[in-house]
Amino acid sequence: MNAKILKLDVGGRPIAWITREAGALHYCRDQVAWEAGIDFVRLRGGIARRTGRRSVLQVSTIIATHGVNRQVDLLNDVPALTNRRLFRRDDHTCLYCGEQFWDFDLTRDHVIPVSRGGADAWDNVVTACRACNRRKADRSLDECEAIGIRLLAVPFVPNRAEGLILANREILADQMDFLRSFAGALSDPYENDD
Ligand SMILES: [Zn+2]
Repeated sequence: MNAKILKLDVGGRPIAWITREAGALHYCRDQVAWEAGIDFVRLRGGIARRTGRRSVLQVSTIIATHGVNRQVDLLNDVPALTNRRLFRRDDHTCLYCGEQFWDFDLTRDHVIPVSRGGADAWDNVVTACRACNRRKADRSLDECEAIGIRLLAVPFVPNRAEGLILANREILADQMDFLRSFAGALSDPYENDD
């Protein structure tokens, strides 16, 4: 298991994914304020010279840590836009024909085309299959309507918790439950994963 640890601030807001080793360091430095995971990952430590025993550290899958977080207004932090995250936001579904595809058959479509001043931003991009993207070309939505292409859902900007969901492919069940309590529009991106 290579699962990461979900780090929260002391107020319970999700901050970041950290490695298990970084999680262990928070324990060693006595920075863990509380634990919210129902699972633990076990880390094997060094061998104690006196007893010859190997130490084992249990790290909760979700930990809240003390300390000041310089990032203000965390839940309004917008995750960086990448194709991988975009396709997962849209559940690998082309938002024009409604079919699901593998990543390599998907593209980033700009609802308002860049050539017409549309931004390369979460609220102006949708997942589109290659065929639909070609057909849509640089048409506006009104022009699309005229040739029978309709946008099936309005693109949304993921919040920080949703960004964390989109950024990690190995989220444990308790971590997912926790993050989803902060997530708004995002459906479960794992539902169709095998
Ligand atoms: Zn399509």
